[in-house]
Amino acid sequence: MGMTAVWKTKGEQGLEVKEAEVPKPKDDEVLIKVKATSICGTDLHIYRWDEWAANRIGKNIPYIFGHEVSGEIVEMGKSVKGLNAGDHVSAETHISCGYCFQCKTGNEHICENVKILGVDTNGTFAEYLTLPYRNAWVNDKKIPHGLASMQEPIGNAVHTVFDGEVAGKVVTVTGMGPIGVCAVGLCKAAGAEKLIAVGRHANRLAFAKEFGADVLINGKEEGVDVKKEIMDATDGKGSDVFLEMAGSPSSFNTGIETLRPGGRASILGVFSKPFEVDVTGIVFKAAKVNGINGRKMFDSWYKTKSFLGSGRIPFERLITHKFRLSEIEKGFDVLMKREGMKVVLEP
Ligand SMILES: [Zn+2]
Ligand SMILES: [Zn+2]
Repeated sequence: MGMTAVWKTKGEQGLEVKEAEVPKPKDDEVLIKVKATSICGTDLHIYRWDEWAANRIGKNIPYIFGHEVSGEIVEMGKSVKGLNAGDHVSAETHISCGYCFQCKTGNEHICENVKILGVDTNGTFAEYLTLPYRNAWVNDKKIPHGLASMQEPIGNAVHTVFDGEVAGKVVTVTGMGPIGVCAVGLCKAAGAEKLIAVGRHANRLAFAKEFGADVLINGKEEGVDVKKEIMDATDGKGSDVFLEMAGSPSSFNTGIETLRPGGRASILGVFSKPFEVDVTGIVFKAAKVNGINGRKMFDSWYKTKSFLGSGRIPFERLITHKFRLSEIEKGFDVLMKREGMKVVLEP
C-alpha cells in the first residue's frame, strides 16, 4: 500500500512530496495513522539544509522527516504491551537503547545510543509511521490532534522550567519561539512572581504577553539595552532564574550577567558554534548552569499532560497556521519569514 510522504532527497534546501510504502510494524512497534504533525525548528534546519543538518543527517538521505505528531494506532506488533488499536498517541522522539548506563539510571533522554525520530529514522511527515511502542504516549481523546502533536516541544519547555523551582521567583526567558512562549505560560501557571520575556520580534512578544509575561523586552528595537532593562525590572537584583531558549551567544551572556548570585540558568537553546563565556563570573556568582536535552522520560510527559488537561495555558493559540501535508512548503515559507508560531499539517 502506498502513502503520501515528505522526503528529504537532496543535500540542499527543499523537500519532495512523493509516494512511499506504508511501513510494517516490527514486533515491538505500532503503526500510527497520522492525524496531525507540526513543524519544529529542527525541521527548519533540515529543510534549509544548514551546516548542522548536513553533518548530522547527510548520511541518512533519502528519508522521511518530521517528528511532532498525534495520530491513531492502527496496527500493533506481537510483543506490544499496554496499548490498544484506536488509541490516540504522540511520540517521544528520543528512541533509547534501554541498556546503556544512562538508560539504566533513569536518564533515558540522554541515552548514549539514542536515535531521534525523523532525524535518524523515518519520521512523521507522512500518512503513517512506525514507532517503538515504548515511545508511544497515549493522549486523552478529548485533546485535539493539532494540540496533542505539540506536546514534544511543550515537553521541552516543561523540562527546562521545572529543572528547578519557579514559584515565587523572578524568571527571565530569552527566545520567544513557541517553546519560549510555552515556558512563559508554564512559569506563570506555576506561580512565578515576575516574568521577563526577551525576544526579537514584536508579534512573538505579543504571544508572550498573552501567556503571562509581565515585562517584554525587544532586543532588536533601536536603543534597547537588554541588560539594563532586565536589571531595572528586577530592582537591580537580577533574575532568580534564567531560561535560555534563543540559542544566541548574546542572550546567553546577557542572561548570565543579569542572574543574581546563586541563581539558576537552564539552557535549552542550541548554539551554532562555540563562543566566549565569562566562566569566572559564573564561579564567583555561584550560579547553577544546567544543559537541558529532550524531555525526562516520562516525567516531562506526565507534567505536560496535566498542564494540557488543566486548560490554564492557551497552548492552542500558538497554532497560527494549518495546511494539508501536501502543502508543507507553504508551512516552511511562513516559518522562514517568522510570520507564524506553530504550523500544523494534516494528511
Ligand atoms: Zn520538535
Ligand atoms: Zn541507552
